[in-house]
Amino acid sequence: MAARQTPVPVTAAPEPAKCPTCKGSGEVSRTVRVGRKRRAVGEQAGLCLTCLGSGEALTD
Ligand SMILES: [Zn+2]
Repeated sequence: MAARQTPVPVTAAPEPAKCPTCKGSGEVSRTVRVGRKRRAVGEQAGLCLTCLGSGEALTD
């Protein structure tokens, strides 16, 4: 007599909310500007100040 196993409910693991600013990457790109005309010369990756690089939204 086989014991009937209770089916395991498929539930998504609770993931931490991603930071809306960096979308979970922990980094944000910011435009680098130079000169009086503020000419954009490129982008630079920087630490996301919203989540401080963790990539997770603060739930506080
Ligand atoms: Zn962030």
